Amino acid sequence: MQVPVVREIEAKSILNASKVYDYCINPYTGCQVACVYCYAALFMRRYSGHSEPWGGFVDVKINAPELLAKQIGKAKKGTIWIASVCDPYQPLEKKYALTRRLVEALIGRNFPVVIQSKSALLRRDLDVIRRLSDVDVGFTIATEDEASARLFEPQAAPIRERIEILKEFKAAGVRTFAFAGPLLPGSPEKLAALLAPAVDHVFIDRMNYLPAVRTIYARHGLLEFLSDSFFRTQGSILAKGLRSRGVWVKSIF
Ligand code: SF4
Repeated sequence: MQVPVVREIEAKSILNASKVYDYCINPYTGCQVACVYCYAALFMRRYSGHSEPWGGFVDVKINAPELLAKQIGKAKKGTIWIASVCDPYQPLEKKYALTRRLVEALIGRNFPVVIQSKSALLRRDLDVIRRLSDVDVGFTIATEDEASARLFEPQAAPIRERIEILKEFKAAGVRTFAFAGPLLPGSPEKLAALLAPAVDHVFIDRMNYLPAVRTIYARHGLLEFLSDSFFRTQGSILAKGLRSRGVWVKSIF
């Protein structure tokens, strides 16, 4: 993993409007997970003024928990997504514990919270996350094939570890989900069987940023897995396999 340039910064706002949920919280600008298909990479470098490659910089919003405590008191109730353009449990979270303190600041506030990650550090915060009154916890899991996942998300936790952690949250009474997107090469039948015991619901999405990933697919002889028919077939087999096991599914493409 590349060592990122890390800057501690004071954010002006931490509870921000989102087009996906009502609000998003991003404790970090930049993401060490550095997935090759990351949509945030396309605009966050320009937005943040960084010249380093995606994964090579992280701005740490060190005042995020205090800022949230101030903003939440004035905010209209709505669903909060942690996080939209970074992994809230990327490696630096181990040192800074910003996400943990943000979750603590939300306890007792009665805002629905959605937490989404690809990192095993999420497990550390089960004790505080389970104290939120309305929370969904999810991992992005877009294939059951570890080699495929390593190719596209080399710094993320192994798929089986993500599944085990979801099971731990579910067993603790927390609602769990998987974001199966962008669908990656692998077996949708096997993915359905793996996910079903670990999650309450699943969102399915296709690869939407084709120019950004075409080179890596071509280099590995995988271009057939970028076709519309691949995503349609893969998505429908996965959805069928999950629904037949009683999992709520929403396809968003
Ligand atoms: S974890 Fe999410 S934000 Fe981070 S690089 Fe991967 S897709 Fe982008």
